[in-house]
Parts: sequence; C-alpha cells; structure tokens
Amino acid sequence: MLAGATLLHRTLSALQNHPHISCIVLSVAPEEQERALMETAAFSKVHAVVAGGATRWESVLRGLEALPEWVDIVLVHDAARPLVSAELIDRVLQAASQAGAAVPGLPLSDTVKRADELGNVQQTISRTMQREGQPPLQGLTAVQTPQGAKVELLRRAYQAFPFDSAEPTDEASLIEALGETVRIVPGDPLNIKITRPEDTALAERLLGGAAAEIRTGFGYDVHAFAPPEAGRTLYLGGIAIEHPCGLEGHSDADVLLHALCDALLGAACLGDIGMLFPNTDPAYRNISSLSLLKTVHQKLRENRWEIVNIDATVTAEAPKLLPHRAAMQQAIGQCLQLEANRISIKATTSEKLGFVGRREGIEASAVAVIRRAAQ
Ligand code: MG
Repeated sequence: MLAGATLLHRTLSALQNHPHISCIVLSVAPEEQERALMETAAFSKVHAVVAGGATRWESVLRGLEALPEWVDIVLVHDAARPLVSAELIDRVLQAASQAGAAVPGLPLSDTVKRADELGNVQQTISRTMQREGQPPLQGLTAVQTPQGAKVELLRRAYQAFPFDSAEPTDEASLIEALGETVRIVPGDPLNIKITRPEDTALAERLLGGAAAEIRTGFGYDVHAFAPPEAGRTLYLGGIAIEHPCGLEGHSDADVLLHALCDALLGAACLGDIGMLFPNTDPAYRNISSLSLLKTVHQKLRENRWEIVNIDATVTAEAPKLLPHRAAMQQAIGQCLQLEANRISIKATTSEKLGFVGRREGIEASAVAVIRRAAQ
C-alpha cells in the first residue's frame, strides 16, 4: 500500500492516464494472477494479465507474446515504480521511436565500489571508463524503467539472445547483445523503485501534499473534582499542580493527557483509552497518565506513525494554567519525544457556565496530527 492505494494501482493509473499509451499487458506471478485481474478491472487499457515466468526476462517475454498485432512500440515498466511521470514516458517513447530502443538513465554521482561477501571493498569502479584508443565513456549510469523499444526489435533480440549461457538483467541488454543502439534519455530521480520497506515512506513523502498519509484525531475527556478531604493531587499535562482538590478517577485522572491519548489513538484508528486501559483493571489504579501516554505512543510507533503536532484546550475555572504551561509541554515532550513547538496547550474558563463553571470538574479536548513514519 502506498498512501491508501496499492503500488500496482498507482502504477497502472500513471500508464492508463498517459495519452500515448493505448494498451497495457500485466505480467504477474501466477499465484497473483487472480488478484491482479480484480485490481485491473477499473483500467480500460489493460489488454491482458499473463502469468509471468521464473525470471524477469521470461515474464517480459510472456507479456510481449500477449501484445496485440498492431502495437509498434513497447515500454517495459516495473510495477514497483509508481511515481513514473508522463514526461519521462514521453522522453522514452520519443527516443525509442527514433533510435529503436531507449532507457531512462541517471548519471551516478556517488562513487561505486564492488564489495566481497564479507562487505569489504574489492574494487572501485571507474566513473569514466577508459578504453584503449577511444575517448572516455560518459560514465556510469543507473538505468530505470520504463525501457522502450520497437516491438519488432525486442522480439528479434529475444530470438537471438543466448539464454543458455547468459542472463540478461534488463530488456536493453538483449538489444545491446544484438548490436543495436539503445539510447539513454534523462531519467527521473523521483522515479524510485520500491524495494525496501523504508522506500514506501520515501515514496509517500515524494507524493507530498494531499496524497501523503496524514491523519487527524480528536480526543475529549472530563473528570470531576474529588472532595478536598479525599486528599487527591491535581495532575494536569503530566505534572502535579498545587490546588485544594484533585480530580476523581481510576488513574491519576490527568484529564488533559487522557484527551491527548484519545486524539492520538483516534488519528491512528487504534481504538480509545478505555479499550486500551480498562478502569476495571487494578493495574491502572492511580497510575501516572504519562505511562498511559507512553504506551499510546509506542502503539503508534508499532503501527508506523509519527506525531506531527498536538493541540489541546483545558476548560477550568481554576487553577490558572498559564504558569504551568512550559512544565506541561516539557513533561509531554519528554514522554512523546516531541519538541515543545509541536505541543500546544491552551486554557480557558467556561464563564461560570455548566459543570466547569460551577467548579465541579475540568474538561479537556485535543487534536493530534500524525504522519507515516520513515521506519
Ligand atoms: Mg479520563
């Protein structure tokens, strides 16, 4: 999944929406064929979903065989590159129709080394390969997809390639082996291949804005004041505050942290504080709500969420909260590993109206924004 849609769906959308692409053939693992068929139902340009082979070249060959007769240029694209742009597709199509075959490439700016199985450097690859009697080559290029070719040329390359003795790593190398020209067009650094789990988060960042996985949650809580003789301490925002009476509750009754927990759980759709910490469970009797907040934060991390910011409002006639705001921000920030400028705490009264106005209790609301964590 990538920002709410599958990789396949995003890649197919990019291809479907390109005006010069008229037909798509999908080559998938045989056990995925049925699921892929369902997923492609929404894409009118999908002509066939074929069972791929054991290697990339076999899968591409089966796709090639399923192309309609009238297709003149074919692009071979990794479904794992969902960020392919229309401009890149245009460049490859145009160069393939002129030169016969084309691939998008990015000049390597990093130094490339070959390592042995222990991870020790064996060799540094020259970036400007010198060949005797010839000018230096332009340098090493990292090649992406889509790789384009005239269908007739790629079919011919497949027929001629010595598969018994060599394993091609891409379509272009088949055409190179034939001695035909493969033109390199500028690739796109954003056209990343989703290979490792952390690539998903990177791709979501690249998608940016509305497409990036950003969520909001809301939390609300009320606690009544305990009578002064109960001797309860007033806890708010993770700190103890001097006041004649504390709040009633199973835990330390930190109404602000409870609203915050619910906002975070709500954003991640992970239930609510009552589900996570039932007030019938003696384990949570008088527990510090900071430890509940810490557990909530851990749950979010386990589900690959990180906090962008939180904003809370406490409604109370007394005590005055402004003098304690910095201490609350610090306690919450330490618990959530969040900078103070992402933790907003506001306070208001209810103008003597309602239960807050009658000083019977304190009310708190909170909003939390979270985003997909990089790891
Ligand atoms: Mg509560």
